[in-house]
Amino acid sequence: MRCSGLQTRSNLKNDKRERKQAMSKVAFNKRLLSIESSASIALMDKARSMKAQGIDVISLAGGEPDFNTPEPVESAAIQAMLAGRTHYTTGRGIPALREKIAEKLETENHILCRDVLVTPGCKYAICVALEALLNPGDEVLIPTPSWVSYDAMVRLAGGVPISVPLSFDDEYRISEKLLEKYVSSRTRIIIINTPNNPTGRVLSGEEASILSAFARRHDLFVIADEVYEKIIFDGREHISLGSYPELEGRVIVANGFSKFAAMTGWRVGYIAGPGEVIDMAYRIYQHTMTCISEFSQIAALTALDHPEETERMRRSYLERRDYWYKAMQGIPGVTLRRAEGAFYAWMRIEKDEMNSSEIAAFLLQKAGVVVVPGIAYGENTCSCVRASLATAMPDLIEAAKRIRTALQ
Ligand code: PMP
Repeated sequence: MRCSGLQTRSNLKNDKRERKQAMSKVAFNKRLLSIESSASIALMDKARSMKAQGIDVISLAGGEPDFNTPEPVESAAIQAMLAGRTHYTTGRGIPALREKIAEKLETENHILCRDVLVTPGCKYAICVALEALLNPGDEVLIPTPSWVSYDAMVRLAGGVPISVPLSFDDEYRISEKLLEKYVSSRTRIIIINTPNNPTGRVLSGEEASILSAFARRHDLFVIADEVYEKIIFDGREHISLGSYPELEGRVIVANGFSKFAAMTGWRVGYIAGPGEVIDMAYRIYQHTMTCISEFSQIAALTALDHPEETERMRRSYLERRDYWYKAMQGIPGVTLRRAEGAFYAWMRIEKDEMNSSEIAAFLLQKAGVVVVPGIAYGENTCSCVRASLATAMPDLIEAAKRIRTALQ
């Protein structure tokens, strides 16, 4: 590539062509070729760039709290930085944080677990757990609709994602019959996310029992992604699969600080589980991440001391969930249930036999509202879309008005 001289349009074009030709000769990692970019991240980027161009769009695509990180958490991090706590830390996480997480798991989730690995977000926690357990060709069951990254993470770890398609009309309930249909001798893991992104479903006690018996019967590991555990409504209780004695030694709980403490950018999460699995995950971690910044870990430690901040945010999501549910009533073709947890509205929109991508494109074009098409979350999502309710109320009101007008 030329680095000096004035770039003209034509030599820029030549450069591009040369680069493209060179790229086509590169033998990329085959696993990567089967992975799509994250649909929600791509849409968030698109909405941002449309806004920057002055286009009037309301984005309901994001997957993060619209609150700032609570002040005491930020202050703790600033103090830590000023005190010079800006170096490598012990890789598994500073002892104070690991102990506090273990204590939280025991008292809140009834999980007796001293083996905790602090990771850069819950996302990386799930990645290292999968990497630690999977061999090429091992299958991983993923009840869908499911968070966009599980499929890609499994492929990256050399595994084969197997979708277990749950049904909208059956309220996305997990049944033994369905699980048995998709399990095989190659299945090693099942990933369970409760409260669920994107559907807002919360696992019931009955489903948890079905799952724990199923995992035991087929000698499977369970990865329980509980990152939305604190955002739960209507008096429901979060059930951690880590608390099931039948699952002892085969459940890995993944969680993090992004959602409950509005700390997406701090990148702090963790896995807790059987010692050997955590040790193996740590082996990968040591060679890829080393550790997380100490001030982020101190911020996370502080976040655990401020449940009132979490409750304030939860109430606000609840208010917005209720607003949105009401606002969508009576719009032709729209079906949705009140989310039981997390901060998304998962809506089926039936219009002119459009699929979910067409619906999302229609809403962008006719209403200037960005939502994520259901297809990003699995094949069995027909004409569903996900709207993030972690959006300022005035924007939600305006978005609802525009959607109503566009669909009427
Ligand atoms: N799991 C689910 C279900 C999520 O929705 C997300 C974030 N969108 C994550 C994990 C990742 O969270 P973190 O920011 O802690 O990596």
